[in-house]
Amino acid sequence: MNANLLKTPIVYLKGVGPNRAASLQSELGIATYEDLLYLFPNRYIDKTQFYKIAQLQRSGADVQIIGKIINIKTVEQKKGKRLVATFIDETGEMELVWFRGQKWIRENIKLNTLYVVFGRCNWFNGSFSIPHPEMELLTDYEQGLQIVMQPIYPSTEKLGNKGITNRVISKLIQQLFLELKDRFAESLSPQLLHELRLMPKKDALFNIHFPKDQELLAKAQFRLKFEELFYMQLQLISKKIQRKLKIKGYNFDKVGKLFNDFYAHHLPFELTDAQKRVIKEIRADVGSNAQMNRLLQGDVGSGKTIVAVMIMLLAIDNGFQACLMAPTEILANQHYEGIKNLLDGSQINCALLTGSVKKSERKPIHEALENGVLQILIGTHALLEDKVLFQNLGLAIVDEQHRFGVAQRAKLWHKNEIPPHILVMTATPIPRTLAMSLYGDLDISVIDELPPGRKPVKTVHRYDNNRLKVFQFLKEEIKKGRQIYVVYPLIQESEALDYKDLMDGYESIVRDFPLPDYQISIVHGKMKPADKAYEMDRFVKGETHIMVATTVIEVGVNVPNASVMIIESAERFGLSQLHQLRGRVGRGADQSFCILMTGHKLSSEAKTRLETMVLTNDGFEIAEVDLRLRGPGDLMGTQQSGILNLRIADLVKDNDILKTARYYALRILKDDPGLEHIDNLVLRHTHTQLLKHRNIWNYIS
Ligand code: ADP
Ligand code: MG
Repeated sequence: MNANLLKTPIVYLKGVGPNRAASLQSELGIATYEDLLYLFPNRYIDKTQFYKIAQLQRSGADVQIIGKIINIKTVEQKKGKRLVATFIDETGEMELVWFRGQKWIRENIKLNTLYVVFGRCNWFNGSFSIPHPEMELLTDYEQGLQIVMQPIYPSTEKLGNKGITNRVISKLIQQLFLELKDRFAESLSPQLLHELRLMPKKDALFNIHFPKDQELLAKAQFRLKFEELFYMQLQLISKKIQRKLKIKGYNFDKVGKLFNDFYAHHLPFELTDAQKRVIKEIRADVGSNAQMNRLLQGDVGSGKTIVAVMIMLLAIDNGFQACLMAPTEILANQHYEGIKNLLDGSQINCALLTGSVKKSERKPIHEALENGVLQILIGTHALLEDKVLFQNLGLAIVDEQHRFGVAQRAKLWHKNEIPPHILVMTATPIPRTLAMSLYGDLDISVIDELPPGRKPVKTVHRYDNNRLKVFQFLKEEIKKGRQIYVVYPLIQESEALDYKDLMDGYESIVRDFPLPDYQISIVHGKMKPADKAYEMDRFVKGETHIMVATTVIEVGVNVPNASVMIIESAERFGLSQLHQLRGRVGRGADQSFCILMTGHKLSSEAKTRLETMVLTNDGFEIAEVDLRLRGPGDLMGTQQSGILNLRIADLVKDNDILKTARYYALRILKDDPGLEHIDNLVLRHTHTQLLKHRNIWNYIS
């Protein structure tokens, strides 16, 4: 019954009408009773106290006073008129002042009648005054809800201009409660309410709008935040369970010759414990008859590639093809070269497909894919083209996933009838809370250990005017046989300027590091792919000492001999990008350095970023700082922030509630995956309703 009532168009609420309905819809997206009910206040003004005029302080605070107006007059002044009322209570006298809307006040104000007055009290010209006070007749106040913690609602300038003030919204919500009476269905199960001592739904909704005190407000907030996060987790986890039950996956049950041979004879190094553990987790997953959808997180340099290779071998052992998709050509090339090296001597057929592979070379690749001769395909987005058809793709690996859109992942999925196992690898550490929310329906493996012998990169922050010293240091490093990256920012909005900076920087480096002693490479997005590859190749082979580049080298590039990373205009990079860039060095046995160059003018946020980089090499720690600085939506990019459209919970601040919610969602679904038990009926019902009316979840792969 009340579900329907809640869907009533807002225009029917007493006090709304067509004009206000239109404004509420366009400004706040409020179309129904329910939307208004769920417009939660941003904050509250404490009105638990009443003051007497004699108690007022000159410091200028919000005060609430009961008293009456004994006279009202217009005072002429240089900059227009003001309306001044003399307001008294039994202890003294003060002024109420209006600069705008004077006519309305004059016509409507009642003299010698008790009012409750609220506003910021000033000390001015020897008396206390409140400009533009909020006023309500004492009799109305006594009949109303007697709001002691005044809710402040989200608003817009337009709403204010249309007279839909905070007070009006508050009144409308009061009216809403009158019309809805107590008819709010409970949406959590009795067990949850009991076990967590949660406030019932109807009380929570009332107290979130009109709390009587701080304690009730806190309880209402907890209840509603819990509910929001609980259903988010319930949704994600049940999706995962359903996927495992319903979506059949290829079963890689054989551990065959290729995998074993490689493991026994061709591993170039001993795997770290973390790598071994992750391989085990993945093997269990691909051998479980269900489709794998797993995120592999591992800091830069933690050795994800070898894990990918071994799982690809497993796929081939079981008679399937595998593909590895990288976000840039450079990275795809590098993966191709590296993997071909690793598989040298085996009979495995491996090919590279990127945008710059010639048409004539593509045809044989397409054919070999379709007749199954080709076992591993490595490439870029080019893999997603409709022409690329596999005979039996069993495993798709996506490297550095944060560069891939959701749609692209979905496309990979549809390359054959039974979806391949999907492994998404990322070096962008995602804070746990965020991972739980964004990827709660994926399985996650983490490589939390770097290969032995790595020296942590030393990071320093230097100002531009110390450049000469920095150059001197570079010359010493080059003398030791090391190579150097110099990276410039490149941002679309300022592209032309950024290219100029890059070229200026390049020229000054060429001047300071002259031929023939020094060889310098440059790589940027305006170059032809072939030229880029050529320059990159020279650097990889050690033929050039310095690589000047934009962030194209950010992701994945591996040159162990490079030991210095200079980041120009470092204040313009985000934390995760800085961390990614720094990960390009420190890959060999030598001590590596990261030098963050900036000017002297720095915002406080930029300072925090630079300090964080200097302080720690731990990607997860950096991700936490990033989350605090930028907030979850921004951190994950707009396309993925949909799920973060939370009404009341905050993923950063409500971390503990999120964990609790996830724990309970897991526990309930483990015992009753279909929510069929009578105790869980209310959960199933609410869950279904949410799915029907909100589509924010659908983006997840
Ligand atoms: P990422 O996780 O950033 O993709 P890579 O797979 O590129 O890291 O590995 C970084 C470097 O570490 C490579 O040169 C790789 O050969 C090396 N490496 C990976 N695993 C190990 C290991 N267990 N022991 C020693 N070196 C390793
Ligand atoms: Mg990598």
